Amino acid sequence: MAVFETEALVLRTYNLAEADKIVVCLSRSAGLIRGVAKGCRKLKNRFGASLEPFTVINLTYYEKEHQELVSFRQTEILRSRFNLSGNASILTGFSYMGDLLIDFSPPHQANDNLYRMALACFEAASQTPEDLESVLRYFEVWLLKIEGFLPDLRACANCHRAFSGDETIYLGNDLSLRCPECSNGRGGAVSKRLHSQLRATEKLPPAKFAEESREVASTTKREMAELTFQLIGRVLERMPRIRPNV
Ligand SMILES: [Zn+2]
Repeated sequence: MAVFETEALVLRTYNLAEADKIVVCLSRSAGLIRGVAKGCRKLKNRFGASLEPFTVINLTYYEKEHQELVSFRQTEILRSRFNLSGNASILTGFSYMGDLLIDFSPPHQANDNLYRMALACFEAASQTPEDLESVLRYFEVWLLKIEGFLPDLRACANCHRAFSGDETIYLGNDLSLRCPECSNGRGGAVSKRLHSQLRATEKLPPAKFAEESREVASTTKREMAELTFQLIGRVLERMPRIRPNV
């Protein structure tokens, strides 16, 4: 039995037996892990409030060979979200991001980019809850990108010509983007404005992206939500379990 220590973001918990919980979290050094926290539902327990969803913790756990479920030994709160526990739309947004992280992350595979991006998005939405919707779009685009499902936003998948930023481009059935000539106008149209919103996610951190998105037209925001929804649905082969604000 080996002991590990890592920073982790708690995503979801399930009750188990009388006093225990199964906790799913995204960890920095081991990716998605599922673990048992024994006795954590007893009044006095060593985990305290650290296993509330969306808390960032320092986690020590045991892992037995050939067992997917690890055993939580000790936790320490690095960042709690108690202040947001009364904000229903933020909690729905967080659950949505948590669900997608669980759906997209293979277990026990560390991905530092994914961990940092997720943490930055949770943090941005915590800081300015009114920007939640833009943070969710940013999160979706980056999740797709990190996991390899985002089409190339810079050049046509067919002729490799760089998009000028001044033309409507088209999303094909194979989820790649093509210039007007190669696509012949077939596929889902991606407007200039939507394209520039998508490109902005590549250049900015989530808080800044959300701030700059305040000026963006609601039709463009809706277009973006429809596009990410479509891409995520295609990857999961179903619609996400929870989806706020669309
Ligand atoms: Zn082309």
